[in-house]
Amino acid sequence: MTSQNRVIQGIPASPGIVLGRAKVLAEKVEAQPYYCLLYAPEEIDEELSRFLKAVEQAEVDLIALKESLSPEYQDHAHLLDLQILMLKERMIFEETQRLIREERYNAEWALFQAWQKVMDLFKGIGDPYIKGRIQDVEEVYRRLQTILAGKEALSLSSQEPVIVVARDLSPAEATQMTRSQVLGFITERGGRTSHTAIIAQSLEIPAVVGVDFATREITSGETVILDGLKGQIILDPDEAVSHSYQERQKEFEAFKEEVAQSSGLAAITIDEYPTKVLANIELPEEVELGLKYGADGVGLYRTEFLYLRLRHLPTEKELFEDYRRVVEAMAPKVVTIRTLDIGGDKFLSPLEYAPEMNPALGLRAIRFCLKETNIFRTQLKAILRASAYGQVRVMFPLISNVGEIKEARRLLEEVKQDLEREGLPFDSRMPVGAMIEVPAAVTLAHLLAQYADFFSIGTNDLIQYALAIDRVNKQVADMYQPLHPAVIRMIREVVHAARVARIPVAMCGEMAGDPLYIPVLLGLGVAELSMNAVAIPVAKHVIRMITIEAARKIARHALRLITVKEINDFVAQEMNRRFPGIFRFGRTLAANHEL
Ligand code: PEP
Ligand code: MG
Repeated sequence: MTSQNRVIQGIPASPGIVLGRAKVLAEKVEAQPYYCLLYAPEEIDEELSRFLKAVEQAEVDLIALKESLSPEYQDHAHLLDLQILMLKERMIFEETQRLIREERYNAEWALFQAWQKVMDLFKGIGDPYIKGRIQDVEEVYRRLQTILAGKEALSLSSQEPVIVVARDLSPAEATQMTRSQVLGFITERGGRTSHTAIIAQSLEIPAVVGVDFATREITSGETVILDGLKGQIILDPDEAVSHSYQERQKEFEAFKEEVAQSSGLAAITIDEYPTKVLANIELPEEVELGLKYGADGVGLYRTEFLYLRLRHLPTEKELFEDYRRVVEAMAPKVVTIRTLDIGGDKFLSPLEYAPEMNPALGLRAIRFCLKETNIFRTQLKAILRASAYGQVRVMFPLISNVGEIKEARRLLEEVKQDLEREGLPFDSRMPVGAMIEVPAAVTLAHLLAQYADFFSIGTNDLIQYALAIDRVNKQVADMYQPLHPAVIRMIREVVHAARVARIPVAMCGEMAGDPLYIPVLLGLGVAELSMNAVAIPVAKHVIRMITIEAARKIARHALRLITVKEINDFVAQEMNRRFPGIFRFGRTLAANHEL
């Protein structure tokens, strides 16, 4: 049954409002893997060769796709590179062949089994970024099954600009669409960090994802409004509703333009209090996005990616080249490289560790590195070498006591001596930071400050550990409250310890990129904020429209309130009063991360 103005709720993935005709993409030809046992040795050879040919074909297709990318999609070539690498990923590539050989499965079934194992492994991983990579594995899997079934990949081209509705869009599919063809994306699957979201954001195409049953509820040709700000779809809108949405769209466009102007300007308050707005990155390619949005540097380079995507442990040379690329692209601006935050919930293919009951409380980050010192030393060496090519800082994640930072620094000194012996250049004064993301580190901040050249508060983990709220558990997501009185007091304490020790304090958790929290953070004394690149223009816009005095007043008042609700209401009210545009549009314009 359809009725006018029916609203379906999804997840806002890319901001903007569009009205247009829907084009529902046919369900993908889902090649169903079938099961059969092979008898003769020739059959086994034949299946092995079918599988290897499918891999080869997929590689050829992906390379062709990558080469055909128009300039506007070049940023996404790395997603295709990633899939090309995944084709040969041990757990799929070798395991499928093993199953064909040893279990005598046909290629489709062997591939299906291998893929299921990988999926099971991924299910146990909490990290949202790693979880986001599930889509790549699935895409690679589907591509291979489609080839094995002798079918062609789906074509998505359409003549008139439409709002594309699909169960899911892979990066390869999304990049086949040109901007002139697509007004917006609606998908059933995906979250804020899914590829559809990432691609839509960088193309500035509005998108709503996670819309249950979208391909069933929406029919091709139907007029729909896609509200990428609220994450809503309005089916068959009447004239009054269409009109009001068009008005909102105009207001949003005007706001966006105003905000965009801030990206090239300094992050300075009205009363000239200087702050810095930096980018968080996970891949070297993202540096360009950071620069485009006006980043004052990289405040957090999450270095896990290279370790996860290679089948072997990266060599010093591979790491060095990766870091040098980022450092040179950002120079003379600072690049803050965080050492490996892996272990526990993120698997590292060449190393086997027993599964942990509570991976977030397990052998991760600095704990892992201090145990696997060879891996750590190699990384430190690569970071130091990259420091000769620009302004580099290093920081250690999940520090929970002084011993850890002392030991990490000791290893760093040893590595410096190695480099000196080898005659390789590095910055001997490279600043060393401690991430403050465990409550114990907050309590010990005044002691840690004696061993750290700077602090960077990682609120994603700090909130999780302080409030005992799993950062990726949707059941308790509403209790994940950055303005919790305990959290803002912790921030104040860290700032105080840093001030006494005269070291700078930054923040690189998602809280730093939410415009709603920026005045409170400035008021608490955090003057360096690092965030997802897309959030930078709004952040600068807020900073440029407030005085440090007003921000301090907001923070002081927030600290006097007792419940999280009181603080949330107060801050929301202040922001609504001071920045109505930000309050209406700014958060979605900045939001890119799911927590
Ligand atoms: C954090 O915990 O806030 C942080 C920035 O690190 P990550 O999200 O990578 O754990
Ligand atoms: Mg963290």
